[in-house]
Amino acid sequence: PRGANAISNANERNHHAHIPECNIALLGLRGSGKSALTVKFLTKRFISEYDPNLEDTYASEEVVDHIPVMVKVMDTADQDGPVACERYLYWAHAFMVIYSIDNKRSFEGCQLYLDVLSRHIKESRHDYPVLLLGNKLDIERYRQVSKTEGLSLATTYGCFFHEVSACQDFEAVQMVFHEAVRQVRRE
Ligand code: GDP
Ligand code: MG
Repeated sequence: PRGANAISNANERNHHAHIPECNIALLGLRGSGKSALTVKFLTKRFISEYDPNLEDTYASEEVVDHIPVMVKVMDTADQDGPVACERYLYWAHAFMVIYSIDNKRSFEGCQLYLDVLSRHIKESRHDYPVLLLGNKLDIERYRQVSKTEGLSLATTYGCFFHEVSACQDFEAVQMVFHEAVRQVRRE
């Protein structure tokens, strides 16, 4: 993929840093835009074609509220809903559950992930932050999931909610990743 060089450069730059880590796992059905959001956050660029089977973890040294943090992002690549969840459940400090606002099925898929996460939170007795994100806000004209529905699902599971676009402004995408860091710090 075209974004890979920029990502590995970022990894090399961060290789020797000794600062607190914040591990964020991106979950959601295929096609919701997890890889596009990951690449946007890491490189400020929108990559429209990304290998749908590629699952990897990337690192970026960030400064959130004037405090440095090593943000690690696991861009998961489940085929069709949650399987073998241990790989991120026991790794992540925060979870982003992502759907595409133009795809009702991707929204329904979020419920599966939110159920897995709420069970994990109950069992581990640790209140890991969960952020529900509606992606592809730029194609609002094809919207199938209203903002109210998104907000309502987030309220049911007690999580943060925001709508974003991987191909519009970087600041909004950066904001949700930084919000995840803030919520982890509050734990
Ligand atoms: P993933 O399977 O969740 O990793 O999804 P991808 O990041 O591979 O994105 C799936 C498809 O949606 C690709 O064709 C992307 O170009 C497209 N896509 C991702 N994010 C956006 C977005 O914010 N807006 C639009 N219009 N397309 C997007
Ligand atoms: Mg992907």
